[in-house]
Amino acid sequence: MKTLFQKIADREIPSKMVYEDDICFAIEDINPQAPVHILVIPKRVIARLSSATDSDAGTLGHLLVVAGKVAAERGLSGGFRTVINSGPDAGETVPHLHVHLIGGRKLAWPPG
Ligand code: AMP
Repeated sequence: MKTLFQKIADREIPSKMVYEDDICFAIEDINPQAPVHILVIPKRVIARLSSATDSDAGTLGHLLVVAGKVAAERGLSGGFRTVINSGPDAGETVPHLHVHLIGGRKLAWPPG
């Protein structure tokens, strides 16, 4: 069965796609928590960080490089945050690993 994000990648569910390559794609979050809130998502499903293996290292690195490039394209020169929620205590709701790219306002620390 496809994950929500696989359906989005396959254009079965509409989204605002802002980036795509062979390894990953990026979409606007449907419920943005900041002026910029983009999800960078691998096309090959990794459920969450705790199920990632050594063979996922290249993909995981690529997601972060793409997040940095998208942040630059959005003009987030003052900074931004990348977040991966892993598991229920972190608030993970979609079991298909994704990097949240959040910015465009001053972000509080520690996060909630
Ligand atoms: P997480 O809670 O870390 O698993 O993040 C899942 C994110 O996916 C949340 O920020 C949701 O707002 C977002 N989301 C859920 N459905 C969609 C959708 N159809 N299009 C874009 N973002 C979505």
